[in-house]
Amino acid sequence: MALVNEHFLKLSNNYLFADIAKKVNAFKVSHPQVRVISLGIGDVTQPLCPAVIEAMHKAVDEMARKATFRGYGPERGYDFLREAIVKNDYAPRGIHLDPNEIFVNDGAKSDTGNIGEIVRWDNSIGVTDPIYPVYIDSNVMCGRAGVLENGRWSNVNYMPCTAENHFIPQIPDHRVDMIYLCYPNNPTGTVLPKEELKKWVKYAIDNDTLILYDAAYEAYIQEDDIPHSIYEIKGAKKCAIEFRSYSKTAGFTGVRCGYTVIPKDVTAVTLDGKERINLNHLWDRRQSTKFNGTSYISQRAAAAIYTPEGKKQVKETINYYMGNANIMHEALTAMGFEVFGGKNAPYLWVKTPDGTDSWKFFEQMLYAVGVVCTPGVGFGPSGEGYIRLTAFGNREDCKEAMRRIKEWLKKA
Ligand code: PLP
Repeated sequence: MALVNEHFLKLSNNYLFADIAKKVNAFKVSHPQVRVISLGIGDVTQPLCPAVIEAMHKAVDEMARKATFRGYGPERGYDFLREAIVKNDYAPRGIHLDPNEIFVNDGAKSDTGNIGEIVRWDNSIGVTDPIYPVYIDSNVMCGRAGVLENGRWSNVNYMPCTAENHFIPQIPDHRVDMIYLCYPNNPTGTVLPKEELKKWVKYAIDNDTLILYDAAYEAYIQEDDIPHSIYEIKGAKKCAIEFRSYSKTAGFTGVRCGYTVIPKDVTAVTLDGKERINLNHLWDRRQSTKFNGTSYISQRAAAAIYTPEGKKQVKETINYYMGNANIMHEALTAMGFEVFGGKNAPYLWVKTPDGTDSWKFFEQMLYAVGVVCTPGVGFGPSGEGYIRLTAFGNREDCKEAMRRIKEWLKKA
């Protein structure tokens, strides 16, 4: 008789975006005449840039010829991509990494979800709240999160990020073994200035804490003093793992490619406290057994964004989305909403009027104007009273959504 992993049974049956889709479908059935505009789910809408397409076509042609055909690739990723990452994403910021510290993957979700496998199940964890749900759910699956009590997991340290603390999480006053930080942040769209990130690295070094730093949206940073990588902070190479993704940087949500950085000095200790284990080796061991690798075609596609044309084209798309963010930020602010984020990230975090709860406001907006948002509480308890809007839509849809919301408020 096979016994089930009962930790899975603690997870809520519904995924946030499935709940939203269900409600939106119900609305569409009863309102077939309304063209629904989705500013909800965080998927991109613009096509891959020409440099990427060209590289993919070329890679397919290579696969078609015996002399250039590729089978299983190197487990950590092809050298051409890992070298391009080191040279383009890190060296210009004064960060020196070895290509062997880079693990190419199929996107950041897999690695942010799986990284917990190489550390003990009973480590304590800390998350900023609200947060990208994968960090919590993956810890629930292995029992690390504990049990759900009043909407909070018993073994998770929640660090609220709200308008009251300007979305700057407070450093815990006790030791936490592993801390997830995500900057620029999904869902709030807010960022952490260098001085604040320094405090986290100091905390991690002082407390022997492992930081799991998700920089999936770093390409959207516009301001100078905002770190793109945690390794811009001295000491971080000893205590932090960084996750990056081409999904939002270059529209790879359908192609699938990203990477994880595990510097050679990042370690975790054995239970008896006698030995420090190199996590780069451990992750390599894990990946070579369980990870199928990223296709050659996807890795060639990713490498193309580091060419001069690729860089320019990717930037144009990011500017397009950030243009949407600006339009939405200005429009909503002018309507009297309190709006956060959207300056260095493609997400706007909007306070609901008069403290309306976030699911209620989601429904009000859907039924009044056919615009879909994401209720903030879906990202954690501190998301209550907020909604998330994404800037990944088409320009015309963003403008139309703002026009409809303005009309609605005028009538209300
Ligand atoms: N990390 C954050 C914070 C995200 O918002 C997302 C996607 O929405 C991911 C990671 C996963 O990205 P992917 O698996 O597409 O690389």
